[in-house]
Amino acid sequence: MENLNDSMTSPELSLFSSIPERLSTVSVKELGTVLPGPSLIEIPGKISPPLFISVLLHGNETTGFLAMQEIIEKFNLLSKPSPREILLFVGNINAAMLGVRRQTDEPDYNRIWNGGNRPEHFLAKEVINQVSRRKPFAAIDIHNNTGKNPHYACINRTNGAFINLARRFSKTIVYFTEPHEVISIALSRLCPSVTLECGFSGDSGGLSHVGKYIEHCLTLPPEKLFSPPANRHNDVYHTIARITVPDRSHLGFGTCPGPVDICFRDDLEELNFTTVPKGTKLGKSAGNSNNLKVTDNNDRDVTTEYFSFDGNAITTRKTMTPSMFTKNETIIHQDCFGYIMEPYPLNDE
Ligand SMILES: [Zn+2]
Repeated sequence: MENLNDSMTSPELSLFSSIPERLSTVSVKELGTVLPGPSLIEIPGKISPPLFISVLLHGNETTGFLAMQEIIEKFNLLSKPSPREILLFVGNINAAMLGVRRQTDEPDYNRIWNGGNRPEHFLAKEVINQVSRRKPFAAIDIHNNTGKNPHYACINRTNGAFINLARRFSKTIVYFTEPHEVISIALSRLCPSVTLECGFSGDSGGLSHVGKYIEHCLTLPPEKLFSPPANRHNDVYHTIARITVPDRSHLGFGTCPGPVDICFRDDLEELNFTTVPKGTKLGKSAGNSNNLKVTDNNDRDVTTEYFSFDGNAITTRKTMTPSMFTKNETIIHQDCFGYIMEPYPLNDE
């Protein structure tokens, strides 16, 4: 019965067969005045199959939505067809209006794509059904980071088409298979897909970068988009573990004047995508159970493989490349503290 009740308050998917009038001018804070909730918008184009683009799965990550507003204006898509059909999914409208990743009583909209019994899982299933019917040729999911990271593209398969789609966005590529409930993994079963991480939300550099990328995807023939560019040099990483802290833990950064469970070094975000040597101190724990935990891709606790806690100093036990380290405590609790990656040499295809 619980599921039945839940489905009555289900976030309904709204379908649009053209661009709603004010979509390109509305502010993210007022998005609900144009889109009643999660929406799949068909943007007619001169050629098909469509390019699938998803934005605002995380409400506080606005770059993808702003880039699409610019694309609509630039190509005058309210009155003209796009160079190629687009299927645009705008995800968590309510969270976006509040400027948060997700609301406290709902799941993360980028962790609902592998089944489940919450209304949001049914929403995700409906989106995938609608999208698979239209057979997109490529799929792009656009995100931002709260911590300082380079712009990078993530892939969930290492076929040539996936790698080359990622290469067009960035020299830095991350291959990951966990978390497996993300939209890009669901889409990777339909077509080559990428997740684009475009730096801080709304940052102008990220906005123009992703805007140009979308333009390329709309105008280049697929064989060109999926073939290797002339410069094949890339830094490819594989995410091998995820670092979390318990929900109840209190965190601090820098000098940490108040009582905290873990006090991290202040320049933590500078370590993202760098080689952090063995013996590097990340911070100090209060020595209680509210400490860092490292979980590998097989869901095993591998904390002691990566960190020592001698004298409560949190020190790396092996060389590692972190990503997504952030000082935003809300995001650390809603998502994670960061990921551990290792270089992933490609046999160049
Ligand atoms: Zn995100």
